[in-house]
Amino acid sequence: RREEVAYFGAGPAPLPTPVLEKGAAAFVNYEDSGLGLAEISHRSSTATRILDETKKALISLLDIPDNYEILFLHGGGSGEFSAVVFNMVALWVEKRRRRAKEELGDNDEAILLRVREELTSSLRLDYLVTGSWSLKASQEAAQLLEPLGQDFVNVALDAREANDGKFGAIPPEDTWELTPPGANAGCGSAFVYYCDNETVDGVEFPSFPKSLEPQAGEDERLVVADMSSNFISRQIRISDYAVIFGGAQKNIGITDVTLAIVRKDILTTIPSPSFLHKVGVWSPPTILNWSVINSLYNTMPIFSIWIAGEVMRGLLAAHGTSKVAGQEAISNAKAETIYRILDANPQVYQPVNHKSVRSRMNICFRVKDAATEKEFLEGAEIRMLQGLKGHRSVGGIRASNYNAVPMANVQKLAEYLSDFARAKS
Ligand code: PMP
Repeated sequence: RREEVAYFGAGPAPLPTPVLEKGAAAFVNYEDSGLGLAEISHRSSTATRILDETKKALISLLDIPDNYEILFLHGGGSGEFSAVVFNMVALWVEKRRRRAKEELGDNDEAILLRVREELTSSLRLDYLVTGSWSLKASQEAAQLLEPLGQDFVNVALDAREANDGKFGAIPPEDTWELTPPGANAGCGSAFVYYCDNETVDGVEFPSFPKSLEPQAGEDERLVVADMSSNFISRQIRISDYAVIFGGAQKNIGITDVTLAIVRKDILTTIPSPSFLHKVGVWSPPTILNWSVINSLYNTMPIFSIWIAGEVMRGLLAAHGTSKVAGQEAISNAKAETIYRILDANPQVYQPVNHKSVRSRMNICFRVKDAATEKEFLEGAEIRMLQGLKGHRSVGGIRASNYNAVPMANVQKLAEYLSDFARAKS
């Protein structure tokens, strides 16, 4: 039955069948221990090994340098919208405190006054808003900081403005209004946030934005990226980022675990609550505090982490030394197969996004009118092509092309797209 269905859901998403089969067995009786993986303590030696092995697989896939930590978290991508704000603002305050201390010595009162002043005059959080998820993240930041009485969020880019009020393009970088490093009395921005792949809108950054790369002699810019829907689908340079996060339920595993890759110096610099509270900002709630959660503070979903490990080990086994680059080639080839047919049949299909930012993971298009679109979806169901309906907020069709969607299923969809276009032309 499973082989008959070609599933293109946007998340949760398909997982490799061998992982699910092995997982079903491990759920009941892991390595013949008599216990299932969802039953064991997250502090047991088995759990420790699973955590280590999953981290190792991710480190190997993405070539993660030693100065980064991998965190397994709760709360999904949405939880990290808040965690980013709490942790990165705490980090910003601590950096200001250290700088003030260098100048003012042990005068705690003066340090506190200085940091409070800097907070109100100079705290900035830069967001690149290129779709629904980065929009949500920026709104979460604004909401969390609102009680401080100021709007600290700088929307450096709202991609809708240059595209008739809709997401679907990323305007040239020289139009972005990023806070320059060193601006705001040397404070720059606490971080620059972007979503590498917008799942709802089908907009993916073609590569790491040039203007976020460090310039010689510049204070560093801390880049935070949401990779929920394109994690481990292409090569990235980890050192470009301060933080990368993503829910597992698309390319990595099952809903229930969120991954973050965080530079270690950030973890060690997040301060304890007392100074933050004197300044007037919250310390991160414990469950969202990256430096605390890192030490097995709460109960980890070991089964989900093991699934993620299995998925990653599967990729490593499949691609050998080319690692994630091997997956990237396949992802690109699958996406091109679909886009080629869409582009060849403009009388029936309209891809919704600008070519240069079309997502390889979430292929969004319209069918010529509402009635034909409905017919398209009905015909797809008959061929067991499922999960193609676009997000309720934007409508249309969305074919999600995550790592575990096999080329054979993409070909089935391609065939249907061609047949349908022929019938409707
Ligand atoms: N960011 C992106 C890019 C997403 O696609 C999603 C969920 N689809 C989220 C964040 C929110 O993730 P979650 O549902 O795990 O909170």
